[in-house]
Amino acid sequence: MHTPLTLFWFRRDLRLHDNAGLYHALKSGNPVLPVFIFDAEILDQLEDKKDRRVEFIHLAIHELQTQLTQLGSTLIVKYGKPSEVWQQLSDEYDIAEIHTNHDYEPYALARDKAIGEFLNSRGTAFYTHKDQCIFEKSEVLSGAGTPYTVFTPYSRKWKETVNEFYLRSYPTEAYFDAFLKTQPLEIPSLKSMGFEAVGQPFPGKEVRKELIENYKERRDIPSIPGTSRLSVHLRFGTISIRELARKAQTLNETFLNELIWRDFYMQILWHFPHVGQGKAFRSEYDKIEWRHDEAQFQAWCQGRTGYPIVDAGMRELNATGFMHNRVRMVVASFLTKHLLIDWRWGEAYFAQKLLDYDLSANNGGWQWASGSGTDAAPYFRIFNPTSQTQKFDPQLVYIKKWVPELSSFEYSQPIVDHAFARERCLKVYQKALKGI
Ligand code: FAD
Repeated sequence: MHTPLTLFWFRRDLRLHDNAGLYHALKSGNPVLPVFIFDAEILDQLEDKKDRRVEFIHLAIHELQTQLTQLGSTLIVKYGKPSEVWQQLSDEYDIAEIHTNHDYEPYALARDKAIGEFLNSRGTAFYTHKDQCIFEKSEVLSGAGTPYTVFTPYSRKWKETVNEFYLRSYPTEAYFDAFLKTQPLEIPSLKSMGFEAVGQPFPGKEVRKELIENYKERRDIPSIPGTSRLSVHLRFGTISIRELARKAQTLNETFLNELIWRDFYMQILWHFPHVGQGKAFRSEYDKIEWRHDEAQFQAWCQGRTGYPIVDAGMRELNATGFMHNRVRMVVASFLTKHLLIDWRWGEAYFAQKLLDYDLSANNGGWQWASGSGTDAAPYFRIFNPTSQTQKFDPQLVYIKKWVPELSSFEYSQPIVDHAFARERCLKVYQKALKGI
């Protein structure tokens, strides 16, 4: 007679501590065996075989495996299509129930629906839990019961609603005994999945008190480490949002607001799924006649626009997979307003390059910059790259790091004149939005 198992499926929650779904799995009363699937549907589409996000996940999986081995248990790690892997696992093991955490992106929703139906058809319960954000779906609504589409009132309601219940940790460690005692299993190598490691270091995951305390004053200066750089850890769940939000509550309200922006955009994607399907949040912005200028788009991608702050940002992104938030706003505004290139092109480029790529935050950021999103800057507010530089990098410290040839003849001429671009943008936007 063997005992049926509970399986826990790790996805964007790669940690043992304070993990909602894992906590419920460990309390199920059955021995627990965790699973991670390198999703072939996604991995096979990545053109860059040195994609550092795959490397980041691989390292996080190794760390989980080490921790589970120390507990006398193991992690099942597979490479394949999740639907096929679940078919195999349900043939191989006697599974009583499966737990996992919610993922709100359209691909994940469809995947989980199909897998849940398949497992239910085999008599296996499939439970999913909230873990990735503090408030999800319709947990923060206006008095009229409608989703918020403007950040400030959303954040006010968020702060009124939050309490210890929402921020408390799930004490998984009290139940670690429930992990199935078994021999360690192998993890597929990056090479076997067609990938290669780059070996550059990733941002650390410690939350530095001093940094958070000074966040408000330092967060807009790209030349200094004034922001947390925790985005990749939040993306893959190597840190807990509840733990971070608790710290933010006591240390710095401006920092807490940034975490609320993250929840805000997640609920926008949930309530307005058209934004994740290539549509403007405000439909009138889909009438803009974008310029499909491939050569200028390439100049932007490669950091050769002749606008130093734009070029510095794009080169930072290409070299490290990160770009400072202030500079993300500047380069996104430049692409959509100065070059009048469709925000979807920029969104897709960021999706390829950002270590912290997240559909809801990226889409929110791009639609904000182009004017088509929630809270959007009015269309006639066009960032001036020169004044942004004077305000946020007056000594050119950030710019010179990425554009060392700045004061030499080698540096490119601007690909477009600022005053001309501004006028052109206003005309094209006015035509689309007002028909004039
Ligand atoms: P910190 O300033 O230390 O902020 C702490 C955390 O708050 C971040 O790690 C992030 O999780 C969250 N946060 C901060 N600002 C935002 C925001 N505006 N929207 C949502 N969450 C936020 N962020 C992503 O995580 N993934 C993306 O794909 C992404 N794409 C963006 C695209 C554009 C065009 C713009 C303008 C912004 C984008 N952002 C994105 C938001 C923001 O730039 C990054 O979260 C931030 O730069 C990450 O650095 P950090 O961890 O040091 O942030």
